[in-house]
This record gives sequence, structure tokens and C-alpha cells, in this order.
Amino acid sequence: MRYYAKEILLRDGWASDKTIFVEDGVIIKIESGQAEQAEILNGPVIPGMVNLHSHAFQKAFVGLTEYQANKEDSFWSWRDLMYRLLQRLNVEDMNVIAQYVYEEMLLNGYTTCAEFHYLHRQANDVNGDSLAASQAVIEAARTAGIGLCHCPVFYSYSGFGKTAPAKEQYPFVHSLDEYKHLLERLQSTYANDPMVSFGIAPHSLRAVSEEQLRDLAQWWSPQGPIHLHIAEQIKEVEECVDFYGQRPVEWLLKNQNVNQRWCLVHATHLNDIEVSQLAKTGAIAGICPQTEANLGDGIFPGVEFVAAEGAFGIGSDSHISISPWHELRLFEYTQRLSHRKRNRLCSDDNPNVGSFLWQHATNSGAQVVNRSVGSLAVGNKADWVVLDTNISELAVLSGERLLDAAVFAVNQNPVLDVMVHGQWRVKSGELIGEGVKNNYVKLLRDKVVN
Ligand SMILES: [Zn+2]
Repeated sequence: MRYYAKEILLRDGWASDKTIFVEDGVIIKIESGQAEQAEILNGPVIPGMVNLHSHAFQKAFVGLTEYQANKEDSFWSWRDLMYRLLQRLNVEDMNVIAQYVYEEMLLNGYTTCAEFHYLHRQANDVNGDSLAASQAVIEAARTAGIGLCHCPVFYSYSGFGKTAPAKEQYPFVHSLDEYKHLLERLQSTYANDPMVSFGIAPHSLRAVSEEQLRDLAQWWSPQGPIHLHIAEQIKEVEECVDFYGQRPVEWLLKNQNVNQRWCLVHATHLNDIEVSQLAKTGAIAGICPQTEANLGDGIFPGVEFVAAEGAFGIGSDSHISISPWHELRLFEYTQRLSHRKRNRLCSDDNPNVGSFLWQHATNSGAQVVNRSVGSLAVGNKADWVVLDTNISELAVLSGERLLDAAVFAVNQNPVLDVMVHGQWRVKSGELIGEGVKNNYVKLLRDKVVN
């Protein structure tokens, strides 16, 4: 297939009047001019966004925890409520919720998702085979048509010092052997599927011991990405200092060979030394601004990290919002508010903030999802978003200013069409195919709200 774009954001920047040739879902050639029989794309074309942190099942609870249960409401009281609600879900429910989440991602411009999957079993079957829950999530992604980097979570303990897991955490727990066996089975089942890749996800320094982390990182070493939660909460940082005598990122960098395959999710609480040392590793800081704001986590030192040439990507995490536009806008706004200045997240090469944020987050996010995505270039997947220039704020703009306006100035979803791996998934702002929304709403009514 061939597609003609009047305007397109290629790896080297904006270009005009290009034909993109696609074979088996991959871009094989980009030529100037309009080739014969090329399908004309309906607006400016940009690479699809990588969502590098998702807990799909948490979508079912959004909006239900926005009331003050006590004066000290925090991440931890939110987590208690989330644990109680997840007891109600079975594997079929997880499939429906995940498909709905992935459809929402596609509609809003995400084309790849890294799923940090820890609900391995139903609460009433904590000794069951965890394969079914992983497959429920993977099949949801395949049906929706989003690229998935499935990252099963390894979880052992409820706190530093090998504290036994709480009963609500039993569905998350594997032995190391069970965990490796799960991944090996999944890898062989989906070995030839271009829509599915894998990463490992040791949950956090509090849920995994030093020996387990070393074992997993070595076992997985040649294969692919490693995602973990790192420093989301001050309490977590303090407990790490109490136990290891070092802060989480400080400890991790001293004790693991952290490199470009690592994604440190919620690297929220960093001191200046951690900022510069983490930036030097080339690892990705996984920032989830909407969730981090919703949970009252804190503000990631974005200005300092970008100044140190650190790499970041974004995730929708709890799915309180599924919009890369909102994530990037809030990321910049947290920096403006804390520095009391404007236009903080950009570079000398790309001073346009919306444009910088989109390009950086797609490129860097791609580094930790084991898929050839992140920029539109020969050899990469045909994963792209067509922007809607019927929106008045976008109608007369081009190039960098188009993305600046789409991130900061548009009140609606600016996505018109979405292609993943050479297949249209969204056209004129609507899913191709029926979607799972009706089943999802029924599930909410029957099992979550009542
Ligand atoms: Zn998370």
C-alpha cells in the first residue's frame, strides 16, 4: 500500500509532499511527490504515541475515588480502595476492560501500549494458572488493534525487608520459576505476532528483593525492556533509605546495570545527583502526569532532567485520563507552575514545546517497548496519527506550531485517523468496527458500581 501526505513529521522533522510505501505493516520507502494510486491522507501525519505505563483494569474505577474518605487521603488510601474493588473482577472482565482501554487509547492517538500487568489471578483463585489473565489482556489488545508490549509483573512482598504480602496482594504473587515459566509460554504462543512484544516488570524495590531483581535482570538481559516503579511516593523513598541506606534511584543505579532498556516509572522523587546520574544511563523516566497529579504523588523534576539530556516517555497508568495531549500539557504546566516561567520543556533544536514533547515522548517511549516504532522512517512500523484540521485551532497552522496548538490549545481530541501496523483502526474520529463499549458499560453497572 502507498499513502500520500501533504504534511508529515518524519524522523528528521516536518516534510511536505511525500508518499509512504507500506508492506506487511512496515514502512519500506518514502518518496517525494504523490505516487500513482496512493491513498491521500486526510490531514497532517505524525507518529503514533507510545503509552509506556498502563494498568488496564484500573480504568474500571475511575471517578469512584474522588471523595474525601478521611483528612489524610493519599495514594495509600486510594490503593486500599482499588484493592477492594479488584476483588470483584474475573478474567473475562479483565478482557473487556482492557479492550475498552485500548480502544480509548487508539481514539486518542496512542498506537503502542506497555501493559504493566500485575492482576495475575482472580481473588477467589489465587493458586490458579496466571496464563489466562495475561492472555485476556493480550487478546484484548489484538482485538482492539493496538501494539502491545506485555510486561507481566513480578511481585513478592508487601514492603522492604521481605515483608509477607497482604491477602489482597496474593493475586499478584509468583515464585521466580512460575514467573519465568509464564513468560516463556507467552513468548512461544505469540512468537510470530507482530502486534505483541514482551518486557519484564519487577514491581518495585519494595515488592522485590535485591536477589530477585538481580536474578530477573540477568535472566532477561539479552532480550528486552525492564520496567519498574521506582520513587512514586515520599514514604517509599523514606522506607528505601531506612532499609538500604540509599534512595531508590541512587540504590538502583549502584546495584544494577541500568541502561537504555530500563524504564523507571514514576521517577518522581529525585535529588540533583540522581537526576544527572539517571540521565547519563540513557534509561527512560516513565512519567504519568495525570495519574501522578490525581494520586498526589509529587512533581517530576522535568526541567532539570531535560537539561541533563535525560530521556522520558509518558503513560496513562491508572487511566484517570487516556489522552497523550492531556498528559503532555500537564507535564509542561507542572514545570511552569513550579518554576514560575513559561516554555520549560524544549531544546535548543526544538524550542516549540508541544512539538518537542510529542517527538521526545514517542522516540524515547519506543526504546522500551521492543517494537520498531516512535518515528516515521523506513524500517519502522506504519503507526501514525492524522490530525484533524477541521478543528479551528489547527486549521491554519503547520509544522511545529500544529503540535504546539494540539497539545495546549485544543479543547477536543485532535485525532482524526489512526493507523497501526499498516491497518486503519480509527477513521474520522471513530473506531473501525464495533468496539466493546456496550459490554464495558454493562460490566460497570453490574459489577463495579453496584
Ligand atoms: Zn503503575
